[in-house]
Amino acid sequence: MSTGKGYSITTYRFRLRCGHPEWLMRTQELYDGIVKFYYDLLLDHEELWEQSSQEILCSLEFLSLPGKEKRKPQTPLPWEDVPPYFRRAAINGGTAAAKSFLTRKRMLEESEESAKENGKTESGAGSGDDPYGKKHYVPRAEIPAEEINSAVVYYSRMYRDFSPEHITLKVWDGQKWNWMSCRLFGREFPPEAGILSPSVVLEGPFLMLHVPVKEPVEDITPVKKRMRDGENICGVQFTNGDAFAVASICDAEGNETAVKFFNGGREYSHHCEKLLEKIRRSADSLGDFPEGPANRKYWMHLKHLREHYAHQVSREIVRFCEQNHAGTIVLPKYRNDFMWKVMKGAGNWSPLHLSFRVRTYLRYKAWQSGIIVIESYAGGASTVCAKCGQPLAEKDGKSKEFVCRMGHRGNWHLNTARNLAVKCRRQFQEGNSG
Ligand SMILES: [Zn+2]
Repeated sequence: MSTGKGYSITTYRFRLRCGHPEWLMRTQELYDGIVKFYYDLLLDHEELWEQSSQEILCSLEFLSLPGKEKRKPQTPLPWEDVPPYFRRAAINGGTAAAKSFLTRKRMLEESEESAKENGKTESGAGSGDDPYGKKHYVPRAEIPAEEINSAVVYYSRMYRDFSPEHITLKVWDGQKWNWMSCRLFGREFPPEAGILSPSVVLEGPFLMLHVPVKEPVEDITPVKKRMRDGENICGVQFTNGDAFAVASICDAEGNETAVKFFNGGREYSHHCEKLLEKIRRSADSLGDFPEGPANRKYWMHLKHLREHYAHQVSREIVRFCEQNHAGTIVLPKYRNDFMWKVMKGAGNWSPLHLSFRVRTYLRYKAWQSGIIVIESYAGGASTVCAKCGQPLAEKDGKSKEFVCRMGHRGNWHLNTARNLAVKCRRQFQEGNSG
């Protein structure tokens, strides 16, 4: 039955205790410096941007190190005696950050260009006629980062004696490199798992070791076969209200068998707003930029908040699918420029913006449970009634209620989720009968 094997990667988190936590901080500072150095170096060398990560690594080393032949490198790395595996982890960190910056920049430029082509003018955050008009921060996609916060990744040769109870890390104390023994507290690794490079992450007052664990997954039957087998489909729509998402389960006959709202959006916005307020106040009193170093702890807190909710929502959606025997999740797909416009209006710390992360986590969490995630263009799904297919006659922006031409009423996000599930079911049935 199975058509091949796949794998999934999950991050295991361990509490870490050691004799010199300050050495881990020194190591992190050194790492941050090297990451930033290579980030800037890559952005300065446009000819490398299209290369693979492996090629970029070689090119950046060539530009910054004397090599065996003791050349004078063009832009020498300003630190000496950096272990090669530590440096390579930092180069990869800087490369990933630079690539992500370039992608964001490109998407922003594309969306601005297409806005110009459509004869529309953008007038900043919160503008526009999208249904979610609430503003917080304008994404600063066009400006390279002042500092990059990425946790130190310990490649092989930077750690040894690794088990779920213990690890010895090679760390920088400000003067020299030391091997430091650390105790770990967490769960056992699964028997068939592959253990990837761990990283040390400061989570509030706690030192944590994050370990990506790669597990084989028995393959997943392709979508078409699942549809023939009559499995249920779950349509999901993301919202900017108290519900992060709304889901509707559609059975083989096209009937709805379950509905769920994944709430907590208001609570999340409230927490974020409080932190953003602290950042604004502290920036005003220090005369600093909101992104300045004094606010780093608040930004970290915001980041953790976002991670927490994104994991929770994606986990709940997968559980809902398991309980209702849905083997496929359908998410709405939009054109990039539309997506950017709506997200810009909603703000970086809005429930709707969290959907980026929920989508990512859903994909691997669903995969682990043998559920497939697909995306379907949302065009039409939000403008017609799921019951009768007639256009929606009225939409109330406040209550999120709609009335269709035939007089059917309901929540319009739920209506979109229903349409996505039904459309997906129909498309596959049509595909199979032909
Ligand atoms: Zn209707």
